[in-house]
Amino acid sequence: MNIRGDFPILQRTSRGKPLVYLDNGATTQKPQCVIDAIDDYYRLRNANVHRAAHELAEEATALMEAARTKGQHFVNATYREEIIFTRGTTEGINLVAQILSQRIQPGQDIVISQLEHHSNIVPWQLLAQRTGANILAIDIDESGDLDLQDAANKITSNTAVLAITHISNGLGTINPVAQLVQQAKAVGALTLVDGAQAVLHCAIDVQALDCDFYVFSGHKMFAPTGIGILYGRLALLNELPPWQGGGEMIDQVSIESSTYQNAPFRFEAGTPNIAGAVGLGAAFDYLSELPMQTLIDDEATLVARALSGLKQIPGVRIVGEPQQRASVVSFLMDGGHPNDVGTLLDQQGIALRTGHHCNMPLMSRLGIPGTVRASFSLYNDETDVDTLLAGVEKAATFL
Ligand SMILES: *Cc1c(COP(=O)(O)O)cnc(C)c1O
Repeated sequence: MNIRGDFPILQRTSRGKPLVYLDNGATTQKPQCVIDAIDDYYRLRNANVHRAAHELAEEATALMEAARTKGQHFVNATYREEIIFTRGTTEGINLVAQILSQRIQPGQDIVISQLEHHSNIVPWQLLAQRTGANILAIDIDESGDLDLQDAANKITSNTAVLAITHISNGLGTINPVAQLVQQAKAVGALTLVDGAQAVLHCAIDVQALDCDFYVFSGHKMFAPTGIGILYGRLALLNELPPWQGGGEMIDQVSIESSTYQNAPFRFEAGTPNIAGAVGLGAAFDYLSELPMQTLIDDEATLVARALSGLKQIPGVRIVGEPQQRASVVSFLMDGGHPNDVGTLLDQQGIALRTGHHCNMPLMSRLGIPGTVRASFSLYNDETDVDTLLAGVEKAATFL
């Protein structure tokens, strides 16, 4: 099945060549139906939500709350109140790290891993500085898989939080998150899963994962930037304090003090990104109509084709050979800094990412400054892979 035709931007050229978009780990392109939903919202329904007593506000509110219900179904949450709108993964993790402040004792451990994106590292460092907790990172082995023995050693009765990525944005490693969550729960720790790279590459089921929090960004799953979702377990959310104060999140306000709404509104102060939520709702609808497993399998075939093709090009070294990989192929080329390789590929219309990919600790663990990263999505095809391989061969002749 080919869904390219749904994405208008894939028709354009780049540097005078047909665009080959392989930077999906950074952001995905948008299908026409998402663009139309945002356009429709601003042309016909724009109003502030939850407040006014008029028809426009009613329609805007209904659209936004429908997106919440679609989000609930997308991650298989038990209650729609467990779905909190955020600006994205980064904001979701910062939110959780903020509201857990009073739950963390000095000397307790916050366990992350060497594979984490900076947004699943720095918010925990800020929390550790506020509370006197320690950060421990589960090590990886040479192939880029988590060292599960090290995980077992680090997840102990002293662990307050386990915060782990579902799929690595640097190497594509699919982590055994359900197993790690189970280990963390067994010692009484809270658990957060960073799903930013996972949402288009596997079915998300927060009940099966049994995590306390799951975060992702709309823009990595065909929706707009500036909108994302934090799933949180309802009973836990309603025990935790708000993070930002303002309109919408309150129950009663006096000059001296306030009382707060329950989740989700407790964590949604101020006017939200309504158009973003509408676009995200349209993306959920779009995905729900696609044969996801077929598309995911096709993408895995493309990734395998890219991997074996790259390995045949002299001077190319694949970075990371995880047992289970989704979407991402990172590599280096002899005699070429990743940035130079990226420039040579860009001249051929191939859009991909070079550098540390917000994974500086991972890059230093691997002893490299960065990689060239091709990251695939459901609309890529064999032509994209073959153009990439031809492009890398050509680049090799310049290095
Ligand atoms: C992109 C990404 C993030 C950050 O997402 P934002 O949309 O920039 O907030 C976090 N973790 C992973 C694994 C990512 O790929």
